[in-house]
Amino acid sequence: MAEQVIYLDGKFVTKAEAKISVYDHGFLYGDGIFEGIRIYNGNIFKCKEHLDRLYDSAKSIMLQIPLSYDEMEAALVETLQRNEMRDGYIRLVVSRGAGDLGLDPRRSPKASVIIIVEKLAIYSEEMYRNGLKTISVSQRRNIPDALNPKIKSLNYLNNILVKIQANLADVGEAIMLNSQGYVAEGSADNIFIVKNGVLTTPPCYVGALEGITRLAIMQICERIGLKVKEEPFTLHDVYVADEVFFTGTAAEVIAVREVDGRVIGSGQAGETTLRLLEEFRSIVEVDGVKVFE
Ligand code: PMP
Repeated sequence: MAEQVIYLDGKFVTKAEAKISVYDHGFLYGDGIFEGIRIYNGNIFKCKEHLDRLYDSAKSIMLQIPLSYDEMEAALVETLQRNEMRDGYIRLVVSRGAGDLGLDPRRSPKASVIIIVEKLAIYSEEMYRNGLKTISVSQRRNIPDALNPKIKSLNYLNNILVKIQANLADVGEAIMLNSQGYVAEGSADNIFIVKNGVLTTPPCYVGALEGITRLAIMQICERIGLKVKEEPFTLHDVYVADEVFFTGTAAEVIAVREVDGRVIGSGQAGETTLRLLEEFRSIVEVDGVKVFE
């Protein structure tokens, strides 16, 4: 196993050396963007989709990424190769960079790019079969007019406040509603419900990230002939669903067995959820960019 190295503005450094300025606006204000990406058996899963979302987020917040798209992909590949990382998690961060204490991004002339790759502690196979217990929380999703949840920004305080509520209830993930009471997403996952064989996930305008796992699941549904709708729904619809599951890069497709004390379906991962997990796992090693053969 190679010693862990981190990509920091064009250089490869050790974890101890990987330091940024205390004047970096990513640190001072959460001013920046990021991606969480998985590599499965040498394949960067949905690499293009992640980079597209990164560059779209950058455009939206007027952040100039100092690397071209191809240079960014090459930096990811090199970081994985140097770390001999065939299976793991990639955290790609672009912060506004060092500036002064004021908010003005014009004072941060150069964005910083950081790539960290690590092994991932994922849910046990038992959890995938049994499903998670979850709750809805009082913390609402940021409204799109204030900070659009489609932007994968470094400002995750909204999500962290949800995580705190989840921690207090001793659950691993929680359901966030938008300010009108429609279900938006989890703290770091998208959500789907299944009722009478039809899947529904909230449209992103409700207040959800355009999750790449979410999209992969919608594409799988189309391919295998399952109906999937993007429609707003409420907690009531979650409580009475036959199946509920979260999707995310780290979580993949994880069933929910209980929400706010209501048992969902059979109280275990449902048939559709498990089928989608299986289909999802069958594409993760092929759909993306190969780093190692
Ligand atoms: N919503 C939020 C708020 C997230 O941070 C994430 C990513 N962890 C997701 C949804 C899932 O997105 P993806 O499938 O692209 O990982």
